[in-house]
Amino acid sequence: MTLLDGKKVAEHWRELTKKRVQAFVKKAGKPPGLAVILVGEDPASKVYVRNKKLECEQVGIRSFQHNIESFAPVESLYDLIRKLNLDSNIHGILVQLPLPDAFDKNKVLSLISPFKDPDGMTYENLGYSWAGQSRVKSCTPQGVMEILKYYKIPVAGKHAVVVGRSNIVGKPMALYLMEADATVTVCHSKTKNLEEITATADILVVAVGQPKLIGKAGVKKGAVVIDVGMHRPADGNLCGDVKFEELEGWASAVTPVPGGVGPMTIAMLMKNTVDLAELTV
Ligand code: NDP
Repeated sequence: MTLLDGKKVAEHWRELTKKRVQAFVKKAGKPPGLAVILVGEDPASKVYVRNKKLECEQVGIRSFQHNIESFAPVESLYDLIRKLNLDSNIHGILVQLPLPDAFDKNKVLSLISPFKDPDGMTYENLGYSWAGQSRVKSCTPQGVMEILKYYKIPVAGKHAVVVGRSNIVGKPMALYLMEADATVTVCHSKTKNLEEITATADILVVAVGQPKLIGKAGVKKGAVVIDVGMHRPADGNLCGDVKFEELEGWASAVTPVPGGVGPMTIAMLMKNTVDLAELTV
């Protein structure tokens, strides 16, 4: 079984992005800038924000962190986004999700300029993608496609099953696999006989947010399994949506958790920020 090492692929992307950042600085006289907004105190979000900041430092992107208290007036977030939209030092605005209940995610996504949307999450950018005109691709599914490319896993003509249909992972994942000429089935929480369907996949992508939902019984022998899930149980042992330990000697290739899709999500965030910065010079 091949371990699809997302850290290694991300390292490859780090070098590419570093070079692009250096070229951008020469042209623009300043580095690309990424604003990261953390609202509230969610511990997992804090870790994600810290990792993004560290990665910015590694590739030479300037990061600007903004913290907003969960009890702050909602307008303080909306006003900050409006201000960052106009700031020429900022090329990407990332609002770490999920937001505390009082804040309206839809409002946030409608406020972020589609030209400063390194997550590809604004409705305009999602619409462009579905029309086959991607301006910015969603980070996590784009990262998955890059893992498949790096390991030369053929996609065209394969049956890909995506479990999960969120705007951030499942839907764009299905789209990118379809664009790469896979035949795609999308499953979700109302899907009947889930394992019967997942067990027909040549490429199985699981993004459900349920620890260890899919095991050997839901995987075809020789399948490629991409585990997007990320869970931090009380015992501290990170795990995904897939029972990794059951797949040895059964699947042909699997992404581990941690060290699989996660590092690629950040690598694609850096890439997208540079893509957006380059639009301005
Ligand atoms: P969401 O909660 O937004 O979506 C989950 C999807 O899974 C929904 O479409 C839901 O169906 C479906 N689902 C839930 N339970 C089941 C079930 N029992 N059977 C079949 N389908 C089910 O989650 P996200 O897409 O944002 O994230 C998914 C996972 O990926 C999470 O673990 C998250 O932490 C992780 N993640 C990891 C990233 C990384 O970089 N590694 C980045 C982003 C997310 P329905 O639509 O019917 O409700």
